[in-house]
Amino acid sequence: MAMIRCGECGREVSDKAATCPSCGAPVDAATAVRAPEALSFEDGHFVGTSAMIAELAKRAITSANYRVDNVDASAGTATFTTGVTMGSWSGVSGTISWNEVAPYRYKVTGHGKQNVQGGQVVAMNLFDEANAKANNVIREMVRFAGGPADAVPQGSCAVVILAIGVSTLMIVGAAATLI
Ligand SMILES: [Zn+2]
Repeated sequence: MAMIRCGECGREVSDKAATCPSCGAPVDAATAVRAPEALSFEDGHFVGTSAMIAELAKRAITSANYRVDNVDASAGTATFTTGVTMGSWSGVSGTISWNEVAPYRYKVTGHGKQNVQGGQVVAMNLFDEANAKANNVIREMVRFAGGPADAVPQGSCAVVILAIGVSTLMIVGAAATLI
């Protein structure tokens, strides 16, 4: 038995079913879109089932050394948390989301936000680090799915911003000395 996509309501149906159990539309196994047997990456989209992408997201988060918090294939989201590491001002909470834009074709997006750590008054999104970490996960997902290395752009201005960050710290240091 293979799963196919109902042409009327978009739900998954067995190719052996005569009608869709959700909407009652007749199932035409010959013309319906079949669930891919393996995940791939084509033209900026992941091709597979939501469950396959959920597994991929979990694998990518683990590969990036972040912690998997929750993966929900039916909602199409995976959440993760990063630790405080060298070059990181605080942990990041990130979410990876996948939306089906065509049968079994998913667009994956991600975003992150900086966590406020104990004793830290303001959690700024320095260097846009939080979103960069979500992009790291998506980049890993693309790599595991066999997609091109340049599918997710690298943060090209990271070095410049880092330099500004360092000089700001030096100014703060100098002010502290004057006081
Ligand atoms: Zn249906």
